[in-house]
Amino acid sequence: PVLIEMKDVHKQFGNGTVALRGMSLQIRKGEFVSFLGPSGCGKSTALKMVAGLLSVSSGSISVNGHPAGQGSDGNDIGYVFQEATLMPWATVFENVYLPLKLHGLRRSEARPRVEEALAMVGLANFANSYPRELSGGMKMRVSIARAMVTRPKLLLMDEPFAALDEMTRSKLNDEVLDLWRSHGLTVIFVTHSVFESVYLSSRVVVMAARPGRVVHDIALSDGHQRT
Ligand code: ADP
Ligand code: ADP
Repeated sequence: PVLIEMKDVHKQFGNGTVALRGMSLQIRKGEFVSFLGPSGCGKSTALKMVAGLLSVSSGSISVNGHPAGQGSDGNDIGYVFQEATLMPWATVFENVYLPLKLHGLRRSEARPRVEEALAMVGLANFANSYPRELSGGMKMRVSIARAMVTRPKLLLMDEPFAALDEMTRSKLNDEVLDLWRSHGLTVIFVTHSVFESVYLSSRVVVMAARPGRVVHDIALSDGHQRT
């Protein structure tokens, strides 16, 4: 079944910059897709539009049969930004609780969900720590827990590990693969690393600034594909 469909999507920003000129793409449930391409080719823009964080100028995007951003429930999408973007004044627990709080869940109702999400990333014992006490990799794990706490089916990651050292990045890549496998997720992973895209995904979607759309769409047959 098709989860995401982009049809001839164009995006021009208010200042006149054209980021996408006719991007079309279908993503099936359970795929791990990477968007690969040089800086400025529109990867982030495409991802934000799938999440409904940016509108399209023309064309259409549907997610699970609904126009992007108008799905049954925003809870269905988890989004991980490039920087960990944690609230420095709040504990790990409070940071991960935030999306549930915004949906009106009380702390007591949310606690088991927050604990489950922290356990998923190996940080069950760090609920009361503050972001400044954590390593870069651990902060990124907290932001993955925050994205997973609403139990999304779709996880969107925008160059999440670009700022981390190579060892940490490699560990986190394996952890993301485990999450994908164990939770039946669909993942879109934005990167400009050829290595990362090939290592992680079952399908590499290559984009270029000119023409501002998909230039190659490569299915990999190395066994990462969920069955
Ligand atoms: P990538 O993620 O591939 O690096 P982006 O999607 O961030 O590329 O950007 C695509 C193009 O759109 C770039 O030229 C960028 O400068 C421009 N752009 C991105 N966001 C904005 C914005 N809010 N306003 C104007 N131009 C933008
Ligand atoms: P990074 O992923 O940023 O490289 P590491 O996972 O290598 O971080 O851990 C850096 C330090 O933080 C380690 O020396 C370890 O003591 C501590 N640490 C990281 N994750 C955990 C964890 N889940 N439980 C306990 N300590 C941890």
